[in-house]
Order: sequence, then structure tokens, then C-alpha cells
Amino acid sequence: MSNSKDWEFETICQRFAEEKHFAQAVVPPIFQNSLFVYEDAEKFSGRTTDPDVWDYTRVSNPTIRIAERKIAALEKADDCRLFSSGMAAISAAILSCTRINTHVICTNSAYGPTRQFLSQYLSRFGIETTFVDGKSLDAIREAIRPNTSLIYLETPGSMFFDIQDIEGIVAIAKTKNIATILDNSNASPYFQNPIEFGVDLVVHSATKYLGGHSDLIAGAVCGSLERMSVLRNEEGLLLGAILDPFAAWLLIRSLRTLALRMERHQANALRVAQFLESHPKVRKVFYPGLDSHEGRELVKKQMRGTSGLLSFQLKDASRDKAFALCNNLKLFRIGCSWGGHESLVIPFSPPSEENAPEEWFLRSSIGLENAEDLIKDLSQALKKI
Ligand code: PLP
Repeated sequence: MSNSKDWEFETICQRFAEEKHFAQAVVPPIFQNSLFVYEDAEKFSGRTTDPDVWDYTRVSNPTIRIAERKIAALEKADDCRLFSSGMAAISAAILSCTRINTHVICTNSAYGPTRQFLSQYLSRFGIETTFVDGKSLDAIREAIRPNTSLIYLETPGSMFFDIQDIEGIVAIAKTKNIATILDNSNASPYFQNPIEFGVDLVVHSATKYLGGHSDLIAGAVCGSLERMSVLRNEEGLLLGAILDPFAAWLLIRSLRTLALRMERHQANALRVAQFLESHPKVRKVFYPGLDSHEGRELVKKQMRGTSGLLSFQLKDASRDKAFALCNNLKLFRIGCSWGGHESLVIPFSPPSEENAPEEWFLRSSIGLENAEDLIKDLSQALKKI
């Protein structure tokens, strides 16, 4: 078997985990089947849940396995398990690190349904969560209780792109034997490898940059063999939210261009962020690639680049102006996901303090179009409001 350590990112995307030549096909086939049969009863009676032995697709499948091994290699993890969505992966990873009556620390910037899973769903089982400002190491230290079993991070976040100090937080967690999970959907493994900083499990909404074409829903959990073999057999097999082989095949195809796409997302987003930052109708731009970003020093320390997600606020931060801007855009579509080929925009208003006026922002996923066309579109829409 080839060793991913011999190859750089782009080569892993093209060649790694494809050493089994199925009829010499240059593109691996889709094994669209539920079952793999045994040659004899003896082999059947020695069944295992080894992910590289084909048995039953909820256990393992050659097409899904190629995508899993590539993503594990890109994340510098021993192993990866794919799930039917990002939330299936996230909930499985969190469940693998919690028990009844344990306590979780989660950053405020984590994805809404992740926070809801922790605060509303897991509280049924006596699992309490403290939400903290992930930018403050002190806030994390102070939130630790004797029964804390997990610190959950998402850096950069996906609305204002808060940057958490991965190395600092992992150091705190390790002294107390607390597990860490990090949602790496925004940076993608092309720009950030949290496992290199000691994070235990990396989770992805593979629906975003890993998929990249807005045509599949998938999730991934990556980590050490020890953690992954337990997670695979417990949350993986028992909750059963596996990825479909066809979606895995689409994911393999998408990974071929991940490096190219991330470079283009970054270049386009930086151009658009700089344009917005210099526009007289814009108050503030949030983009980790800008020197004005609050977490810029940490970005330089723990990331190799920044993706296509940015947010901004108009000087007139009213709902009407934010909605009018969205409605006047012609090239940008209005939609809540991100990481695809297409540029998107949404208006949003974070919960405000009591009696404080509502403040609106816009979040944009910058796609793979020509940056000058995107700027032209923003320019004409800004002129109209
Ligand atoms: N993590 C982040 C940061 C997200 O933005 C999302 C979805 O938008 C998810 C996880 C959940 O992924 P999925 O929609 O694939 O379940």
C-alpha cells in the first residue's frame, strides 16, 4: 500500500488509496451494493469490522473507503470515517467523547445546530455544556469542571471567523485529560491541519469545500486509530449514518481539485474583501486573510491560507439595506450553505443585547467566478442602496 507521507497534498488527491486497480479503470468504480459475499463458511465465520475488508456497506465499502483514506491522509490523521452529513459526523464525534453526566466546553462561534445538539439534545442525558468565548484561553480554563470530558472548537468560525488558539487550548485540555474536537470545515485540510497541533478529532461538513460543487451532503471524522476504531464500531455502526457510495464517488472526484479550488477561493475572497474594505458604504469587513482581522496573528501561526468565506457590515446596518443589497445582486445567489463553486450571500442579525438596536450583517461565500465580475456585481448593487 502506498504511504501518504511520501506524497504532497495534490498527489494524495490524485493517487493515494487507489492502489487497487479495478479492471485498470483510471476512475474507481462506484460499488453501489449493500453486500459483499464470502468464498466459504470458514472465511465468513472469521468476519471482522476491519474497514479494509468488504462485508456489508454499513461496515465498509471500497468506494467509501477510498474517499475516507484520502481525507485521513489530507488531515494527517490515521483514519477517517465518512457520514451522511456534517451533523451526523459532528454528533457521532461528540457522542464518542461524552458519557452520562459529563460536561462539555464549546466555543460560542460553533455552528448553530452543533450548539443546539449540545445544549438541548444532550442535556436530556445529563450532559451539560458551557459556551465560552473561544478567543480567551482564560475563559476556557475557568470553564473546566472535574467532569469535563470534551472541548469543542470551530476555528475559523463560519459567521465572524473567530480564531481560536489551537495549540494553547490543546495544551490546557491535555493537562486535564480532556478530549478536543475541531470543526475544520471552513479552512479545509488545505489550509489547516489541527491534528498537527494535537487535536484529537477533526470533523467536517464535507458538504462544503471537500465536496465543493453544491451537489452532495457528507460529513467526516478524522483521528487516531485508537479513537477511530471505537468511533467506527460504536457511533458509526450503531447509529448507522453512513455515506452513500455514489456521494463518496462524487467526493473522490471533488477532492481531485481541492487544492486548485481553495487557491482560487482564497484569491477571489481576498480581492472582494479588499474591495469591500475600501468602499465608502461599508463599515467593517470580517475576513481572516485581511490584516485588519482580529485573529490575524493566530491565522499566520496555525493556517496556511484562508478560504472564501467573509462577512461585512454596511455603514447603515439596517435590515432594509442588508436585504436590498442581497436583492440587487445579480451574480451572487441568496443561499445559506457555502464552499461551493458559486458565490452566495445571506443577510443575518446576531442576537443583540436587550434594548440594543438590531444590527444586520451580510455573509458571503466567494465562489470560483472571475473576481472582477463579482466586484462589478457588488459595486452596482451597493450603488443602488
Ligand atoms: N459545520 C459547519 C461550520 C457548517 O456550516 C455546517 C453546515 O452549514 C455543518 C457543520 C453541518 O454540515 P451538514 O449540513 O453537512 O450537516
